[in-house]
Amino acid sequence: SETLRLDGIEKTYNRGLPSEVRVLRGCSLSVQAGEVVALVAPSGAGKSTLLHIAGLLDTADAGRVILGGQDMTGLSDRKRTRARRADVGFVYQFHHLLPEFTAAENIVLPQLADGVGQADAEQRAMALLDSVGVKHRAGHRPSAMSGGEQQRVAVCRALANQPRLLLADEPTGNLDPETSEKVFAALMALVRDTGLSALIATHNLELAARMDRSVRLSDGDLVAG
Ligand code: ADP
Ligand code: ADP
Repeated sequence: SETLRLDGIEKTYNRGLPSEVRVLRGCSLSVQAGEVVALVAPSGAGKSTLLHIAGLLDTADAGRVILGGQDMTGLSDRKRTRARRADVGFVYQFHHLLPEFTAAENIVLPQLADGVGQADAEQRAMALLDSVGVKHRAGHRPSAMSGGEQQRVAVCRALANQPRLLLADEPTGNLDPETSEKVFAALMALVRDTGLSALIATHNLELAARMDRSVRLSDGDLVAG
């Protein structure tokens, strides 16, 4: 079955102004359940825009986003927010963890917000941290962790509420090659383990080649390869 379908997505910024940018010109994509798709594009091509639209953080000017079989077009803000929280996990280039909270707390909090009990949330947080090899950092704040550890915690947080789709925007873009490899391997193992679908933007063609397939964003269109 299909986890995500994008149908003819169009997006223009600053329409009608001299600064108008036509970023997406009719992008279509289908991500099957359990499929991991690489989104490859040069900087400025519109990767973040496309991921934000797919993840219901932004709306398209035209086209449809179908998530878990449900057409998200025209939903109220409240329903879109609810669908995003239930269905989508995000990982960015920078971890965006809450600095005042420990690694475990950063994974527990979104679960509490989702109605999970404290004990269950803690248990899940520890299991996630363990699965990416940073359980020993559970009680540390982000500032006490390395970049690779922070990013692995961010991956755990994205999966805290068991989304059906993971969207990642250059998740290893800030890291040196060795650390990048560790984070990517941990992310892929966790995604495969949970049977999650993922759309992962990367500049790195070596990483892209390890996913199920690649799509390229070029001149506002999505093309295979
Ligand atoms: P990428 O993630 O591939 O680097 P983005 O989606 O961030 O690309 O941006 C694509 C283009 O749209 C860029 O030219 C960027 O400057 C422009 N852009 C992105 N967001 C906005 C915005 N909110 N307002 C105006 N222009 C924007
Ligand atoms: P990235 O390329 O890592 O996504 P950016 O610095 O391009 O990061 O964008 C960060 C944020 O700023 C995004 O939310 C994007 O939509 C917004 N943005 C990017 N370019 C512009 C722009 N020219 N005008 C206004 N907002 C922009």
